Amino acid sequence: MRVIAIDGPAGSGKSTVGRGLADRLGLTYLDTGAMYRAVAFAAIRGGVDPTDSEPIGEVARSIELSLDGGRVVVDGSDATIEIRGPEVSRAVSLVAANPEVREELRTRQRLWAAEHGGGVIEGRDIGSVVFPDAVLKVYLTADPAERARRRADEMSELEYERVAADLARRDALDQGRDDSPLVEPDGAVTVDTTAMTVDEVLELLVRLVEERS
Ligand code: C5P
Repeated sequence: MRVIAIDGPAGSGKSTVGRGLADRLGLTYLDTGAMYRAVAFAAIRGGVDPTDSEPIGEVARSIELSLDGGRVVVDGSDATIEIRGPEVSRAVSLVAANPEVREELRTRQRLWAAEHGGGVIEGRDIGSVVFPDAVLKVYLTADPAERARRRADEMSELEYERVAADLARRDALDQGRDDSPLVEPDGAVTVDTTAMTVDEVLELLVRLVEERS
């Protein structure tokens, strides 16, 4: 099983780079942030408070979740758009701090990798906790202002300040939680993408994978 782990703060380029790398290497891509967003979405829809530990754990264990073909389907409903909206973005880091949710999603991520023979997997704890033996561990980072600018460009209806505040708040929660916080994993290659193009990042990562294969 060949896993490439990509971690880093919000807006550091993980999704773009992860998809591009999977394409170049002929591997499947898994966005684990979408899984946490799906749990937050299901909780909101079911009227469950994102900080209510036990019911949220139950939501995570009981949802039917499919991430095939770039669509995110939660209990039979296509939630691809809604999971990126402001309501889910506000709740997701609270949901992701719940150890029961993390345990359930870790299990699903390992199962996914076993079924797909590995893949390019991105998130916050992939190289540090979920796949510590990954072939390559990457920690992607970029200036906070640049990260907010990229996100604001992607979602033009949101203003820059609101996006910047949301990223900073989520990063603080993700780095400050007790269970598998966002860290630079041991043995990871840190890549600061602030002044790099996507192609430059991809060239570098393909070279690193080739060196290790
Ligand atoms: O990657 P994205 O920004 O969509 O992730 C949304 C949230 O999901 C993160 O802010 C974090 O709280 C949580 N997450 C996590 N562990 C992962 C992936 C995402 O805690 N492996």
